[in-house]
Amino acid sequence: MAARMLDGQALAVRIQQQEIKPKVTQFIREHGRPPGLAIVLVGDNPASEVYVRNKLKSGSEVGFRADLERLPATTTLADVLTLVERLNRSDAHDGILVQSPLPKALGPDAAQRVFDAIAPEKDVDGFTPANVGLMVQNRPALIACTPSGIIELLVREKIPIAGRHAAVVGRSDIVGKPMALLLMQRDATVTICHSKTPDLAAVCRQADILVAATGRAGLVRKEFVKPGATVIDVGMNTVTDPAVAADLFPDGHPRLARFRERGSVLVGDVHPEVAEVAGALTPVPGGVGPLTITMLMMNTLRAAESRVARAVPR
Ligand code: NDP
Repeated sequence: MAARMLDGQALAVRIQQQEIKPKVTQFIREHGRPPGLAIVLVGDNPASEVYVRNKLKSGSEVGFRADLERLPATTTLADVLTLVERLNRSDAHDGILVQSPLPKALGPDAAQRVFDAIAPEKDVDGFTPANVGLMVQNRPALIACTPSGIIELLVREKIPIAGRHAAVVGRSDIVGKPMALLLMQRDATVTICHSKTPDLAAVCRQADILVAATGRAGLVRKEFVKPGATVIDVGMNTVTDPAVAADLFPDGHPRLARFRERGSVLVGDVHPEVAEVAGALTPVPGGVGPLTITMLMMNTLRAAESRVARAVPR
């Protein structure tokens, strides 16, 4: 039987329109201003341009003030840090997001230095050491948007987590590690896999919930998946190689036809054949991506609410 498709796009629209937007309206009524989100974009990476545009659009749609702070690719690390400091002090901004990746010319530790500079209470990406530490201790924190969006999806789709075996493929700071931790905090038994894991397919095949976050198009094949398992595809890979596209989609598939028209196709880390064995599966696009943006909106609203609550004299 074909896997049930977990429609992240529809859930994202529902949460943004029915849950976040009314709270934003109430916030504006009570505080005379909208929650404010500042997005810093350095350079001109085309994928980043698209992600930033989508985040600004969602921010405006829920009623935020959403500002783009753009710096040229030739900017220095000191300029980026000065901008972050200004946004830390800004009364109008409750959330700050610095879009990754930063230009390579800024140096190998630029991202870390920039994230470290963001005030933790405005860190709506959940990347600062303070928020990561709080999350590890299961204390209230701003939590990374992709893994928290996946938990939201599993919970709302009534996919049991407690007592289940989850495998997370990928151990990055922004997806794999926090994902594994959040699943563990919900009482899953978690295996973390990475590029050095021997016999990855056999390890993944034990999982009731399999999360793929590797950036490798179609890595997860049918033999990785226990029949009936839930498979969450985090990957967003732009395929331009006709051989890879032909391996992913059979002849006559509409997405292969579209690839031939456009010369590229966006795919996940999970091979489409997995739909034949999985019980439930997130599509790419339209699965995890829209929920990541929704959690960014949720974090910004929470950051705004916490900030005004702190400003009230006791
Ligand atoms: P990173 O490149 O930081 O991490 C990739 C991880 O995958 C690493 O831990 C790496 O292992 C592991 N890996 C790579 N190849 C293999 C392999 N062949 N077998 C097993 N493990 C492997 O990527 P991110 O975590 O930042 O992102 C992962 C994917 O998710 C990307 O496609 C990205 O575009 C997408 N993404 C999507 C988001 C969304 O909203 N949908 C948000 C964020 C990311 P090792 O540590 O050993 O190198």
